[in-house]
Amino acid sequence: MNNYMEEKRMVIEAGKTMLNSGLTVGTWGNLSVRTADGKYIVITPSGVDYEKITPEMMSLVDMDGKLVSGKKPSIEAGLHLGIYKKREDVNAVIHTHSIYTCAVAATRTDVPAVLDEMAQIVGGGIKTAKYGLPGSQELASNCAEALGDRMAVLLANHGGVCVGKDLKDAFKITNVVEVSLKSYCLAKSIGNPVALDDKDVNFMRDFFLNSYGK
Ligand SMILES: [Zn+2]
Repeated sequence: MNNYMEEKRMVIEAGKTMLNSGLTVGTWGNLSVRTADGKYIVITPSGVDYEKITPEMMSLVDMDGKLVSGKKPSIEAGLHLGIYKKREDVNAVIHTHSIYTCAVAATRTDVPAVLDEMAQIVGGGIKTAKYGLPGSQELASNCAEALGDRMAVLLANHGGVCVGKDLKDAFKITNVVEVSLKSYCLAKSIGNPVALDDKDVNFMRDFFLNSYGK
């Protein structure tokens, strides 16, 4: 059987980068990728330091949430699976507890698209999913619903979730979201951030997806 070593190594490296770039602390947050054959997800195990995770420890879980190999998966495996089932374009999910993401999530408000890069990278504003206890089915369904067809969502009083076509893409989005929310918090402290017009948001997203860098 394919042991998905490449996927496991990729997620381990991304976990260390996430920790070292301050996007999470301790064992909080979690990351996953969908395997290339679409049958499973590789997700970080529950409660293991990012620096100490080995490929053998990484959790391989089928699309029904059953553990196939490795240690017990992150308690948010259901949240990751809920997104993969709903979004065929998503092959990587990153959940962080980063400072500005958490600050905004604590206010339980939706963030309008106030910066060009939010339009380009996220696809518009960032919604905050209704509250659900960590690891609960309620949190998983609230998250998938609030994410919709965008690339990022906040979890009320908890943190953020970013998705991408691959891990590199999801990581870039995670960084853009954290920096954008930092700018948003600063903007709120000196005045009222102004939302972009929908037509400008759509134009920028379309340009980014279809023309940028091509
Ligand atoms: Zn969390």
